Amino acid sequence: MPRFHLFLVPVLIAAWLQGCGTSQWERGGVTGLPAPVEPANRPIPAERQAEVVVDRQPGSMIMRPGPPETAPVSGRQNNIPQPDLTPTWLSLAQWASESGLGNVQSISTNQFHLTTHWGVFGFAERAPYAIFNGWQFRLGYPVRISDGIPLIHSLDAEKNLRPLVTSYERVPRGNGVICIDAGHGGSHSGTKSALGEFFEKSYALDWALRLQPLLEQRGWRVVLTRSDDRTMSLEERIRVADQADAHLFISLHFNAAGPGAAGLETYCTTPRGMPSTLTRGYSDPMSATMPNNHFDTPNIHLAARVHSALLRHVGMADRGIRRARFMTVIAQQKRPAVLIEGGYLSDPGEARQIGTGSYRQKLAEAVAMALQ
Ligand SMILES: [Zn+2]
Repeated sequence: MPRFHLFLVPVLIAAWLQGCGTSQWERGGVTGLPAPVEPANRPIPAERQAEVVVDRQPGSMIMRPGPPETAPVSGRQNNIPQPDLTPTWLSLAQWASESGLGNVQSISTNQFHLTTHWGVFGFAERAPYAIFNGWQFRLGYPVRISDGIPLIHSLDAEKNLRPLVTSYERVPRGNGVICIDAGHGGSHSGTKSALGEFFEKSYALDWALRLQPLLEQRGWRVVLTRSDDRTMSLEERIRVADQADAHLFISLHFNAAGPGAAGLETYCTTPRGMPSTLTRGYSDPMSATMPNNHFDTPNIHLAARVHSALLRHVGMADRGIRRARFMTVIAQQKRPAVLIEGGYLSDPGEARQIGTGSYRQKLAEAVAMALQ
């Protein structure tokens, strides 16, 4: 860890200072690939939400590429399994059934639904993302099909699917302290609006200042990394969260990329052994354990709550819950942490929206709603 840390920090800082743009290659999307068939949105009725209990028993059936083979998973008790760096593919249907999560139906030869008590997942062969109750999340490994059987990677099963079914549960409050980080500031202006001399740092701060009272009304003690236009290092932002002993950390940003990119993205730290959705060309050491990896399950739980609330309340285009390792401000956190990209300032339409106080108020309200 120390050697990795020392090597990576300058790279990470350099990456961050370049702003929040999404690289050209990353925007390739899913052109030419089958898209998951979007399942009907089936939210859980309020009276059933209290029933939501996750079966923590891991799947016991392993299927590896080639002839199906069964073997018990050893050393796994009633907790989340440790990441396995050996490529391990599971029968989606068997894993879901044995985990008590639900049943798989074929929609076509390469599209599948997994219907659970908590909602419906949609998958398609080779697609880099899947759908849960109408919104996207990026997979570490696209679903494969072998002899007509859909296979899912064990890391996606345990680090994405299983935690996502808890997203109807409230986010645990812990000590009730939350750290809200307005991205950039001072000499770090962040992304410039397509519409003129307006910068990400100002919009992010306004979002944070609007969010603070909404969270306080809901009983949170809110600590802001900055409440004015000042330059702060990423390490200083982490120190603010540490000194406040914050239970949660949320970093607020806006995005930029070439023409056509628009919509909402929510990032959390990539689990060990999984490739990141976004690297911006920097190293993505899959065998590294980041401090924030100790919170893989609450990270995506928080991300799912926030992401789905934003889509519902703000009506943005959905670019999915995504994974990154180079985002120091979340990867080095010793608490559940997410980074939200609340729209693309490079897109004239979204830049116009982001420039209005009513839009930023909606962003704030959506995050607060996710943390009821
Ligand atoms: Zn940013």
